[in-house]
Amino acid sequence: LDRIEKLKSLVSTHQNFPKPGVTFRNIFPILQDPSAFTDLINLIVEEIKSKPQLPDIIVGLDARGFLIAPIVALRLGIAFVPVRKAGKLPGNVEQVSYKLEYGEDTLEIETGSIKPDQNVVIVDDLIALGGTASAACRLVRKMSATILECISVIELVALNGRRKIDAPVFSVLQY
Ligand code: 5GP
Repeated sequence: LDRIEKLKSLVSTHQNFPKPGVTFRNIFPILQDPSAFTDLINLIVEEIKSKPQLPDIIVGLDARGFLIAPIVALRLGIAFVPVRKAGKLPGNVEQVSYKLEYGEDTLEIETGSIKPDQNVVIVDDLIALGGTASAACRLVRKMSATILECISVIELVALNGRRKIDAPVFSVLQY
């Protein structure tokens, strides 16, 4: 619980960013504190190791999930695979589109980067409405892989994003 309180005290809050009406939670101060950053990674690794089934792959979500997911993957000695916004990945890709407040966005993953029999844990920095994590889940399922868990550094619990996510959800910090 000490580790959680330390991490929470580091997250900064920004009103009306990136647009009016939004309260933005910023995880970067955690990354500026090596001992807190280590605690964060340890908490995620401990959560994954506490489960009977270990993953074969850690999928990280564009862009801030990329700061956490590869470190977790290295600690577990397993692969990291990125899910990116459309148009960033070379070669053949699988796609999933999802609704935003206004309009639509598309996520992509490299074809063949996940095999059908593999177990996956998805990692991102924050779950708000849950649209991003839920789209990433659909993408991984499209490759016939199994999602063990969807892990986020922060969960905005009042928005109930986990209701949209068709997988167990674990968050380190709740607001
Ligand atoms: P959702 O799809 O759950 O509504 O939004 C989550 C996605 O938007 C995540 O990929 C996350 O990086 C980004 N996001 C939304 N709100 C915030 C926020 O307050 N802080 C941070 N760091 N990311 C946010």
